[in-house]
Amino acid sequence: MTVTPRTARTILISGAGIAGPALAYWLRRYGFTPTVVERAPSIRDGGYAVDFRGPVHLATLERMALLDVVEGLRTGTGDLWYVDARGRRLFRMPAEQTGGDIEVLRGDLARVLFERTRDGTEYLFGDSIASITDDADGAHVTFERSAPRTFDLVIGADGLHSRVRALTFGPEQGYLKHLGLYCAIFTTPNILDLDHTGLIYGELNRLAVVHSARGNTEAKVMLYFASPPLTYDRDNLDEQRAVVDRAFAGGGWQTPRLLELLATAPDLYLDSVSQVRMDTWTRGRVALLGDAGYGASPLSGMGSGLAMVAAHVLAGELAMAQGDHRIAFERYESTLRAYVHGCQKLADGIAPFMVPNSRTAARLVRLNQRMLRFLPFLADMPAKMARRTASALTLPAYPD
Ligand SMILES: Cc1cc2nc3c(=O)[nH]c(=O)nc-3n(C[C@H](O)[C@H](O)[C@H](O)COP(=O)(O)OP(=O)(O)OC[C@H]3O[C@@H](n4cnc5c(N)ncnc54)[C@H](O)[C@@H]3O)c2cc1C
Repeated sequence: MTVTPRTARTILISGAGIAGPALAYWLRRYGFTPTVVERAPSIRDGGYAVDFRGPVHLATLERMALLDVVEGLRTGTGDLWYVDARGRRLFRMPAEQTGGDIEVLRGDLARVLFERTRDGTEYLFGDSIASITDDADGAHVTFERSAPRTFDLVIGADGLHSRVRALTFGPEQGYLKHLGLYCAIFTTPNILDLDHTGLIYGELNRLAVVHSARGNTEAKVMLYFASPPLTYDRDNLDEQRAVVDRAFAGGGWQTPRLLELLATAPDLYLDSVSQVRMDTWTRGRVALLGDAGYGASPLSGMGSGLAMVAAHVLAGELAMAQGDHRIAFERYESTLRAYVHGCQKLADGIAPFMVPNSRTAARLVRLNQRMLRFLPFLADMPAKMARRTASALTLPAYPD
């Protein structure tokens, strides 16, 4: 069904990550006209694996006619092993305890969403919103490069450090909750000859994970390190590599090799492990979507699933309200508030367990791993809890 919007018709989305293109997909389907502005020169297809869990995530993919496509992109990665400095395998985490119902590379998902929406959606790459002035006639937007334009609505789907959020709600310090870690992700050749498996090596305050990917033809590297908030230029890859180099200097196991490969990795993604906490995600003609409004952090395992469900809800509410954003925004918030809260709670208390920051914490983690060998039902609990949380929403029946 195509809805003729009474109020909103043209909608500017800032950010072509996961949430932005997913929203563009639904808006087009409902007869709105989306434009997506992305700061990067093209789709950013970096990142590790992301999970879809439970019936709400799967129904969202199905309604987008993406379930088969995404299933075809499964990582197929098996168990994860904790190793010691000599590479000896110490403790196994079975695949079913780490992935969701469907696990895909974030980059593959971003690319599929872009491909699905590029026809009929205007994409402006290499640009960013500079200002937004909202009045009865619309949201008047200036860009860093393009000419000024007026849209009916502006949606900030521009991630943790959202420009739309900063312009509409104020500086990020008021909303970003740092969870004490940073995470660097990049792609390398499969130097450890991993066969559909991953290895985890931990030291005090840092953790390296290497996973085979794309049928063992390459590997994804994820480096976590404990740190207070850092200041660096997010557009300067060399500066970001230096941050990671410093954090892992003197590291054991394969870390020197990984740092060597980092120097030439094309797709480094570095960010703090943070959540976004806000009392409201909408103001006037502006709404926030995905990480920009309620980033749950990689520790929750929910970022992409949540962003896609939320994109469906936001577009569905706009369609139901015939484009009246005042009604739609209110329903968007009330439908998702408790669900978002649940997703964010999944990350509570995880950081020191994942990357121990004291010898006592490290000993506790080792003890816990030993115990879990004999109590497999306890080891399954985090995955079960994540699935329950991901399923805790009655997805409204929006127009199809
Ligand atoms: C390259 C990359 C790799 C990632 N890897 C992982 C991962 O391995 N595991 C994980 O759990 N999460 C990862 N994330 C975060 C994850 O994608 C999100 O938590 C989740 O998918 C929600 O998506 P989002 O679209 O809200 O945010 P994001 O996926 O972060 O997308 C935001 C988009 O907005 C763009 N943007 C930022 N500022 C501006 C601006 N001023 N103007 C226009 N565009 C802007 C960014 O370039 C990006 O494309 C990654 C994010 C990125 C960008």
